[in-house]
Amino acid sequence: MTTFKFGPHLIHESQIFFKSKLTVGIVNLKPIAAGHVLVVPKRNTPRLGDLSTEETVDLMLSARKIGNVVENHYNCTSLTMTIQDGPQAGQTVPHVHMHIIPRKKGDWENNDDIYQELEDSKKSKGVDNEEREPRSLEEMSQEAKELRAYFQYE
Ligand code: AMP
Repeated sequence: MTTFKFGPHLIHESQIFFKSKLTVGIVNLKPIAAGHVLVVPKRNTPRLGDLSTEETVDLMLSARKIGNVVENHYNCTSLTMTIQDGPQAGQTVPHVHMHIIPRKKGDWENNDDIYQELEDSKKSKGVDNEEREPRSLEEMSQEAKELRAYFQYE
């Protein structure tokens, strides 16, 4: 696999840090926190309900492994793991994906503000009216390289 199709987006191999039989882990173009990554089934389908049982199990087992790694790597103590399953739930990329966001005490003043932040991250301007710049491939590749070291990766 040299590139991976995430909905309409072409993901460079260097953005991928985890692969299982049916799932990949990729670093995020516009993370809302350090270690905000995405867990994505290899097969491109929009809704969780479209996945086979095997794909669903593989996605969840992969998310558990990836969650452990990012929580430790970023010195956090909890995880927000969320799937926006369909456009009315806030899904913007029509390819099933779980967000994994490492959490620690005091990171957001009100715990559930993270969901608003997730919404804002998709707009070109944030709440503070600052432009939200996508990360460079170089920056994403560096993070993926660090995370890849925790997994048996081929
Ligand atoms: P959602 O709104 O739940 O569909 O989330 C889409 C996620 O995909 C957001 O966190 C985006 O930052 C992320 N994203 C969009 N395009 C790319 C890309 N090319 N590479 C990595 N992440 C992306």
